[in-house]
Parts: sequence; structure tokens; C-alpha cells
Amino acid sequence: MSTYVFGHTSPDSDSIIGAISLSYLKNQLGEECIPTRQGEISAETEFILNKFGGKVPELKTSVAGEKVYLIDFSDKAQAPKDIMEATILGIVDHHKLGDLTTDTPLECWIRPIGCSNTVVKEMYDHYGIEIPKDIAGMMMLAILSDTVIFKSPTCTKVDTKAVKELSKICEIEDYKQLAMEMFIAKSAVEGASARNLNTRDYKSFDMNGTKVGVGQLEMVDISVLDNRIDELFEDMKLMKEEDGLHTILILLTDIMKEGSTLLALSDDMSKVEKAFNIELKNNQAWLEGVLSRKKQIIPFLQPQF
Ligand code: MG
Ligand code: MG
Ligand code: MG
Repeated sequence: MSTYVFGHTSPDSDSIIGAISLSYLKNQLGEECIPTRQGEISAETEFILNKFGGKVPELKTSVAGEKVYLIDFSDKAQAPKDIMEATILGIVDHHKLGDLTTDTPLECWIRPIGCSNTVVKEMYDHYGIEIPKDIAGMMMLAILSDTVIFKSPTCTKVDTKAVKELSKICEIEDYKQLAMEMFIAKSAVEGASARNLNTRDYKSFDMNGTKVGVGQLEMVDISVLDNRIDELFEDMKLMKEEDGLHTILILLTDIMKEGSTLLALSDDMSKVEKAFNIELKNNQAWLEGVLSRKKQIIPFLQPQF
């Protein structure tokens, strides 16, 4: 019997590559594991897989009766709907602890560092397992993505050290240049629908019984979206109704200017203003220095509920 390894809904590169890197490690340790995903892969993830010849994990959105490892999340809202009918063998993550609970003891590797793949790197080191060149390259780019090429406040020395070691294994010296190419691939918005943009990196949270959605678009230059803001708001309104959200936030993160334009719709806008100590104009505000949803958005939003 196999075990499935997967990341959160609307999977980002960390979730997809983490499923691959953790599965390989587990297989080396004698546990038969299959990497899977809960949704479509992004242009960024496609770039990473193409660069290193990785395979797209199979789609799996139902896990009742299965054994699973979770990577890059521990929130029920980001899991398959029937997750409580699965046996969670372990969690590898770098987010706040979510609301999933288990009936049986589990393995937990949760660290306040920049990327789940950095945690996986530590696991390889811990078990003394060699990382294949292709997997090392993919892990390296996943870390550079999550840490926004080391600019994110979530980035730690552990992450920079992991990238340096992985770059040696995959023999790519100028990893920052490669990471910029990856972010340019990620920034492509031409022809993308408003829904595609809003949900590219979207997460929903249960905040004390209230549903809150937070999406983020990380781009090399967010000004290319200037003429699409109304369209994004129109779609946010629909998402809010469809999912019964109290609040929906979309962050347009400019990785060069190192800040984010916040787009907000809420049943109580004062909660958003209080959370970030801002005044919204046309439901928008520039958040200087804000790059990280997990460190600079969620911890301030949560206490409002
Ligand atoms: Mg993630
Ligand atoms: Mg991550
Ligand atoms: Mg991210």
C-alpha cells in the first residue's frame, strides 16, 4: 500500500516540489510514497519542473482511507475535504500550526524558516540520504521562490545555507539569475483571467469561525496590472459570495519595489484597516516592505476575528 505526499490547495512550487522531494526521501527510507497535488500547477512550478526534468505529480483530491504526509500546510481549509478520514503520518511545514488533528501519533517537522523544502533538506541531512541532482535543483528554486530570493522576512540563515549547498549539488553557480528567470516566468499575466490571477496563490483560513481568503501575486513589476484592478475587484466580489467569505484580500506583491498593494473586500473594512494600521482608499493600500503573507499578513489579521 502506498502513502500519498501532497501540499496545500492552489499548490505553489514549495507544495509541488516538496511532495516530490519528501516522497523521494521517504522512498529511500523504505516507505513507499507517491507525490500528488491538489490542483493545477503554476507557470512558476512548470518552469522549475522543465528546468530540471521533474514530473508533474498526479492529481489527487480525495484521500479517505489513505495514509498521507502533508507538506507546506496544516490547515483543514487547505486540505482535501475528506482529510479527517485519512491517516496523517506526518507534517512537514513552515507555517503557523493549523487546525488539523490526528487520532494517531505522527511525525512533525515544523520550523519557523523560509521554506518547507529547507525543512526537507534538513531531513535529508538528518538521515544521511544523498539528494539527486535534479531534486536538488528543484528544491533550490522552491526555496528561492518562497524566500523571494532571500528578501522575504521569513528567510533565515538555514535557508541561505540550504540554497548554497543545493546549488553545489545541482551545479548551478548563478542561482540568483536563475531565480530571476523563474520570477519573470511567474509574472506572466497576459491572457490570464481575473479568476486565474486571484487564485494563483490563494489560501482560505478559518479565523475563529469566520472565513477569510488571502491571495497573493508575486511579480517582478505589478504595474502591468494597473489597468486590471477593477476586474480583479469584480472577481473578488464573486469569490467572496461563492465561498461565503467575511473578508477577501489580494496582495499584489512587487518583489523589486519590496512591498505590496493590498486589495480588500470585507463585511467590516475597519478590521482590515485596524489589522495593518492603514487607511484604505478605494479599498486599496500600499503596504511598504510587505512580502510575506504568513509573517506580515496573517498574524495581524487573525486577532481581528
Ligand atoms: Mg506554500
Ligand atoms: Mg512554503
Ligand atoms: Mg509563497
